[in-house]
Amino acid sequence: MHNYQAAADLLNNKVILITGAGDGIGRQAALHYGAHGATVVLLGKTVSKLEAVYDELLAQGSPEPAIIPLDLEGATKDHYQQMAETLKQQFGQLNGVLFNASHLSVLGPFEMIGEDEWDKVMQINLRSQFLLTQALLPLLKATEHASIVYTSSGVGKQGRAYWGPYAISKFATEGMMQVLADELSNTQVRVNCINPGATRTDMRSRAYPGEDPATLRTPEQIMPLYLYLMGADSRDVRGQSLDAQPDKVRSGSTS
Ligand code: NDP
Repeated sequence: MHNYQAAADLLNNKVILITGAGDGIGRQAALHYGAHGATVVLLGKTVSKLEAVYDELLAQGSPEPAIIPLDLEGATKDHYQQMAETLKQQFGQLNGVLFNASHLSVLGPFEMIGEDEWDKVMQINLRSQFLLTQALLPLLKATEHASIVYTSSGVGKQGRAYWGPYAISKFATEGMMQVLADELSNTQVRVNCINPGATRTDMRSRAYPGEDPATLRTPEQIMPLYLYLMGADSRDVRGQSLDAQPDKVRSGSTS
């Protein structure tokens, strides 16, 4: 999958929602999905970033995207239900969702984790995914070969000191993927996880401020797996947690 070459029309006539589409990996996924023909729905917190991606998509000749400005920290079940209704009315289909947005918690000793910080991380990284998935499932089930992709992490598979609620939310994301993939095994909706591995983004530099970003792969370099899991070539792949990088850069140090 790391050398996967996506056909130029892989995502033609598909509608794909991406959370956290304004920056980092989500931004690059939006540009790649759009370049392969998808109409991309850009969900994120900072409107100016979403508008910039919108402009880039139009400039590269992709189908006109849509923007959903939403802070996942404050969003409620009603927001997600309304969003699902709007998507249904506007597009009549939803072929894929990339759950990519995450909040990196303050790193530090377990005993020092604040209740508010715990709640914030669980709200953004986990509860929002549960509610948004629930709201979108009817639309996804009604679409042929829909794909749900959650975003995991190395610390969502092997716990690590000081990574607190972020790591725990990623373990839960893996769990949600497995439960849902099993439950949907007799439907056309497939559910999988991507672990991006150490990737050159703002989040990575916040987690590892002393690291030289030039030593890391860029979001663009990890896109083959993102394309593979969203397109028809992966229609039989279910319940998998896959690494986007062939080798882990400095084993054990992925966020
Ligand atoms: P970035 O911090 O670069 O981007 C995260 C995106 O999520 C931003 O667009 C941000 O929006 C959005 N976001 C954050 N909080 C909210 C919120 N409350 N509501 C709506 N949108 C929000 O992160 P990466 O691109 O590095 O990470 C993408 C995913 O990959 C994450 O799930 C991360 O955990 C995972 N990951 C990344 C690794 C890496 O090395 N980079 C390694 C392992 C996993 P805004 O810019 O407006 O704040």
